Amino acid sequence: MTNQIEKTTCPYCGVGCGVVAKVNAEANIEDSTERRALEVQGDKSHSSNLGRLCSKGSALADTVGLETRLLYPEVNGLRASWDQALDTVAEGFSRVIREHGPDAVAFYLSGQLLTEDYYVANKLMKGFIGSANVDTNSRLCMSSSVMGHKRAFGTDTVPGCYEDFEQAELIVLVGSNTAWCHPVLFQRIRACKEANPNLKIVVVDPRRTQTVDIADLHLPIAPGTDTWLFNGLLHFLSQHNSESNRLFDEAFLEHHVEGLAEALAEAAKSSGSIEKTASACDVDPRDLATFFQWFADTEKTVTLYSSGVHQSSSGTDKVNSILNCHLATGRIGRTGMGPFSMTGQPNAMGGREVGGMATTLAAHMDFTPDNVDRLNRFWQTDKVPAAQGLPAVELFDAIHRGDIKAVWIMATNPAVSLPDADKVVEALKKCELVVVSDCVRDTDTARLATVKLPATGWSEKSGTVTSSERLISRQRALFSPAGEARHDWQIITDVARRMGFKESFNYESAAAIFREHARLSGFENTPSGKLRDFDISGCADISDSAYDQLEPFHWPRNAAFPSGRKRLFDDGVFYTSNSKAQVVAITPRTPRNLPDSSAPLVLNSGRVRDQWHTMTRTALAPQLNQHISEPFVEIHPEDARRRNLAEGEIARINSQWGSMLARVIVTDNMRAGEVFAPMHWTDVQCRNARVCAVVNPVVDPVCFQPESKHTPVEVDAYSATWHACVMSREAIDWPAAEYLVEVRNEHYSAYELADSHSFETAGEPVLDALQYWLHCTESDQVLSYEDEGLGIYRIAVINASGALTGLVMFSRSQQYLPERSWLGMQFAKPALDARARAALLSGMPPAGEDIGKIICACYSVGEKTICQSIRDNGLTDVKQIGERLKAGTNCGSCIPELKELLASETVVED
Ligand code: SF4
Repeated sequence: MTNQIEKTTCPYCGVGCGVVAKVNAEANIEDSTERRALEVQGDKSHSSNLGRLCSKGSALADTVGLETRLLYPEVNGLRASWDQALDTVAEGFSRVIREHGPDAVAFYLSGQLLTEDYYVANKLMKGFIGSANVDTNSRLCMSSSVMGHKRAFGTDTVPGCYEDFEQAELIVLVGSNTAWCHPVLFQRIRACKEANPNLKIVVVDPRRTQTVDIADLHLPIAPGTDTWLFNGLLHFLSQHNSESNRLFDEAFLEHHVEGLAEALAEAAKSSGSIEKTASACDVDPRDLATFFQWFADTEKTVTLYSSGVHQSSSGTDKVNSILNCHLATGRIGRTGMGPFSMTGQPNAMGGREVGGMATTLAAHMDFTPDNVDRLNRFWQTDKVPAAQGLPAVELFDAIHRGDIKAVWIMATNPAVSLPDADKVVEALKKCELVVVSDCVRDTDTARLATVKLPATGWSEKSGTVTSSERLISRQRALFSPAGEARHDWQIITDVARRMGFKESFNYESAAAIFREHARLSGFENTPSGKLRDFDISGCADISDSAYDQLEPFHWPRNAAFPSGRKRLFDDGVFYTSNSKAQVVAITPRTPRNLPDSSAPLVLNSGRVRDQWHTMTRTALAPQLNQHISEPFVEIHPEDARRRNLAEGEIARINSQWGSMLARVIVTDNMRAGEVFAPMHWTDVQCRNARVCAVVNPVVDPVCFQPESKHTPVEVDAYSATWHACVMSREAIDWPAAEYLVEVRNEHYSAYELADSHSFETAGEPVLDALQYWLHCTESDQVLSYEDEGLGIYRIAVINASGALTGLVMFSRSQQYLPERSWLGMQFAKPALDARARAALLSGMPPAGEDIGKIICACYSVGEKTICQSIRDNGLTDVKQIGERLKAGTNCGSCIPELKELLASETVVED
C-alpha cells in the first residue's frame, strides 16, 4: 500500500497557501473511525506561498482527528437519521415561507465554505426561495472593500497579485498586522526587504505590532483617522504635482478616471496641510511628511490594507481614500503597484464571486432589473428578488425581533463573532428554527441549534477556493467523510430537492456545480469579460478529470485570457457605465461611538499569531495553544497605572453592550487611551471571554460592515479572592469560577481559574475540596502541600506507574502560583524521577529545566531557553538563534519576538 500525496490548500487565512499532504495509507485504512495520519508541507509550486507555511498551516495534521467532530445529525438534541434531519429542515423552512413569506427565512454563510457550497446556498435562497436574506461572515471581514471597489472600479476586483509585492519599491501596510494575520505573505515581504535594501516599508497602525519589525517607518495613527491620512496624501500629491514633477498621471486621469476635482476639494478641506493632517491623525508631522514624500517619489507602490481599514463605520470611505491615491497617480494594474485588499478568510473571495452576500447577486451582478432578469433566465426561475436582503447585523436583529423565524447557519459561529454577541445569542434562543451545519459538535452557536447537520471539514471537502489575489485553487479531499458527515453542497442540494426544487439542484458532484458557476460567469457576458469582470467561462466545459487536476489560476479565465489574468485595469478600462474609474470625494467621519467618561478607552479587537477564528480547529493542535493560551487585554502603562492594573492580573472590560474578563498585558506598544483584546476565545474554552460581547454593533452605512475595531470601554481590575491552575491528564468538569480558560496540551489539559467570591468548601478542608476537581483512583498517590497563612494549597496525583496524572495549584494570591511550563512537561514523562517529585509541589523547577513561555510553536522553544542561549553564547541575531535552537527556522512567525528577546537581553547586559 502506498502513501497518497495530494495537493490542496490551507483552510485558514486569505493568503491561500498551497499544501502538499501526504496521507499515510496504512494508518488510515478505516479513516472515518481510526486515527488519521497525515504529513503536510508547503507546496513549492503554488504561487501564493512557494513552499512556505505559517505555524497554523504547519500544524494542520494535528487538526484532523475526530474527537470534536459532529458525526451524525441531531434534531432537538437527539440523534436523528439524515432523512429525519433533512425533512425537519425542509418542512420547517417551507412552513415558515408558506405562513410568513420568503423574507421570514435566512441563511448565514461563511468564508470557510468552498465556492461550490456557496454557489448552491446562494442559488437556493435567491433563486428558488425568493429572498435575498443570505449573508455571510465575510460581511465582518472585508465588505468595505467590496463596496469601495464597486464605487471606484464599477466592480469588486483586486487589481493586482502577490508578485507585485516582490516588484514594489514601497509597500504601505495599513491596518494590518500582516506578521500574525497573513504570516506567509509577511515572510515573503521580509524576504523582499532582505534582498532589496532599497525597498521601503511603511506600517500604518495605531498599535506597534510585530509587523513593525520590518518597517522603515511606523505611523501610529489615532484609530479611525485613515481617511484624514489618505485625503492628506492626495492633497499633498496635488500640491506637489507640477510640470517638472508629474506626481499625477495626467494621461491616465484624462482618459480613464473621473471625479478627481471633487475629491481634491474635499481633501483640501479636511487635510489641507501636513500639520493639519498630522494633528487629525495624532502623528508626528515629520514622519507624515516622510511617508508622503516616499509615496510621491515611488511609482512602484503597493498599498496593502486589511481589517484595520475594513472593520469601521467608515470602512468604505477608508478604502476609497486609498484607491483615490492610486488612481490619481495611475498606480494600478501594472507590475509592482496597486491597492491590495487582504481578506481574512480562505474563501471570502469565492463567496463574493458567487454573490453569497445579501447585497450582491451571483457572478458579480447587482440587483439591477437587467441582472435580475438575466439570473432568472439562467436559473430558469422567476424568484430572484429585485432588492437586497438583510446584511449580517440587521439579519440577526430581524431574528431578535421575530421577523425572521428560521435561519440556517453554515460553517460559522455568529454567537461568538458578531458584535453585540449576547444579543445574537438571545436572538437564536428565540428563533423558531435554527439549523447549524458544521464539522464541529460543540460550538457556542451549535449549542443553540434545533437541528445540527454534520458537514465535512478540511481534509474531507473537495472543491475550489479563491485567495486574496483572485487565485482559484483546488482544495482536495484526503480522507473520506467522518462518521455520517456530508459535503455542504450535498446537504443544501438535498434540502432544496425536498423543498420541491429537484430539477434545479440535480448536482452529482462539485465539478458539476463549478461548471454551472463558470457558465453563469460567461452568460450574456462578452467573450473577453467586458461586461462583467468575473468571467471564468473558460472552465464552463471542464471535464471531471480536468477539474480534479485543475491547476491554480487567476481569474478571469475566458476567450481573451485562456490562462487567467494576473492584473486587471492595465488597459485603463473599468466596469463603470463609461468605463472610467471613479475617484470618490471623501469627507472624513469619526467612529460612530466615541469614548466618554464612563467608557474612556477605545477597544480594538483582532487576531493572535497561532489561532484561527473561534479556535474550533487550531485549538486541537497542542503546539498552537502554547504561544498565547489565555484571552488578554493589552493596555498602555499609563492607563494601567491609573486603574491599578498589573501585568498578569485579570481585568474586566466593560462596554454598554457587554463585558469580558482577560489577562492584563501592560505594553507601550499600545497608544494611551486604547486597548486591544483578541477575538478567538468562546464559551466552549472559557467563561466570560467573548470579546464580541463587548463590541458595538455599529455598521458602515454603505457596506454594512461592523465597527469591530472601535468600541468605547472601561477596563477595571477584577478582584479575585482566589486563583488556581489545574492540570489533568483527563479532561475535568469545569469548577465553579467566574474566570476559567481550558487549554489543551499534548499530554494534559490545563485550566486557569479565578473567582471574586470566597472559596466554598462546604465545611471540608480546602485540600479535600480541591481534590474533587481531579480524577483519582484508589491506587493513586496524592501528594499535598498547604500553607494556610499564605493561602497556598497544592495537590499532585501520581498513578501506580509513577506518572503524574493531575495537579492543582491553588492560592489566595496570584503571586504564589508557580510557572506552568515545567509542570506541564512532567505530564510527558511515563514516570517521575525523585528530583521531579521533590520539585513538583514547590513549584521551583530544577535548575535549567524551565523553558518558559513558548515562543517558537513549530519546535516548542521557550522564552527562557532562548534568553539563556543568547546570554551563554553571545548570540546577536535571529540566524544564530535558529542555528542553536531551530527557533524561527520553519514558518518564521516568531522572528519578530526573537528580535525582541535579542534586544531585551542586550539591554540587560548593558
Ligand atoms: Fe494558512 Fe498560514 Fe498560509 Fe494563511 S499564511 S493560508 S494560515 S499557511
